Amino acid sequence: MPTAGIIYIQGINVNIKNLHIYRRTTQVFFILLIFSIPVLDILRYDTATRELIVFGQAWSIGLRPDFFIEHDISGATHVALQFFLKAILPWLFILSTFPLLGYFTGRFFCGWMCPEGAFFELADFLTLKLLGRRSLYGKKTNDPETSHDNKFLYAVITAISAIIIPAAGGIALTGFFIAPKTIWSQIINWDFTFGVKAGIIGVSVYMLISLIFVRHALCKYVCSAGLMQMLFGWASPVSLRIHLDAQRINQCTDCRACERVCFMNVKPRLPKKDINCVTCGECITACNKELGAGKGLFNFSAGDSNTKKPVWIPAFAGMTKQDKDT
Ligand code: SF4
Ligand code: SF4
Repeated sequence: MPTAGIIYIQGINVNIKNLHIYRRTTQVFFILLIFSIPVLDILRYDTATRELIVFGQAWSIGLRPDFFIEHDISGATHVALQFFLKAILPWLFILSTFPLLGYFTGRFFCGWMCPEGAFFELADFLTLKLLGRRSLYGKKTNDPETSHDNKFLYAVITAISAIIIPAAGGIALTGFFIAPKTIWSQIINWDFTFGVKAGIIGVSVYMLISLIFVRHALCKYVCSAGLMQMLFGWASPVSLRIHLDAQRINQCTDCRACERVCFMNVKPRLPKKDINCVTCGECITACNKELGAGKGLFNFSAGDSNTKKPVWIPAFAGMTKQDKDT
C-alpha cells in the first residue's frame, strides 16, 4: 500500500522528508572517504619510493624475475597477460568510471557524493547567511529568503571554515603523493620539505579561490568528471533524472520553492531538460513541502524526459506505477 511521503525507486522506499538528510550523510561519508584513502594506504602514489600503493601493497606488473630469458610462447603470454591485467585493465576501469556513472546515474555523483560540491554548497549557505544571497556577484531571482539573525556567529563559522577546509583539503590531497605519516611528522615539527609545503599550499589556495569565487561554475564548465557524467547522462536513454509530472502541473502554486532550493540555478519546471541538474532531489523535497507529502510534482526517474513516461521509476511520489496507471 503506497504511503504519502514515500517515493519508490526500484522497490526501495525513500522517505521524502529524509531525502535531504540522506544526501548530507552521503556527502559527509565521501569527504571522510577521500581523506581516509591515503591514510589507510588504500590508494596513493609515493613520490619518495616511486611506488603506487594499492591496499597497502606496492603495485607491480607482476612479471617473473627471469621473464626476459624465456623466449618461448609461455614467456610471451606471461608478459602480455601481466601487462593486460596489471596495466591496461586498471586504466580502462578508472577511465570508464565516470562515463558509466553518467550513463546510468546522470550527475548523481555530483549532487550526492562529490566532496567539492558539498563544500560549494556550504559556501553558498554561509554567503546567504552573511549577504542575503548565494553568490558574491549579486542577487539572483532564485536566491532563497533567509533570516538575518546571528550574523556574527556565521561570520565566525565562515572565517574558521575558510582556514580549516582548504588546509584539511591541502593535507589530504598531498597525502595521495607523499606518505601521510611524513606529512604529519612535518606538521608536528613545523619543518617542511619543499614538496609537502608546495602540495599543501597549492591545494589550499586552489580550494580557497574555488570556494570563494568559482563554486558551481567549476562543476558546470571545468570539472572533467562532471562533464563526462553530463555528456553520457545526456545521451543515455536510461540515466537517472528528475521527472516533472506535467499532467498535474495545474496543481503548481507557483511558489518557486523548487527554483529557490536549486543551487545549480536550474528551473526544474521547464519542460526542457537541463544538463546542469545534479539530481540532488532538493526540488522534490521542496515541492512536497508546498503541496503536501506525496503530492509533489517532481520525482526521480530513469530514462525519462519531461515529455515521456518514466522507464522504471514511478512518476508519482507516494504511488506505485500500477497505482498511477489505474
Ligand atoms: S533541478 Fe532539482 S534535482 Fe536538479 S539540481 Fe536543481 S534542485 Fe537538484
Ligand atoms: S515547488 Fe512545486 S508548487 Fe512550488 S513552484 Fe515548484 S512545482 Fe510549483
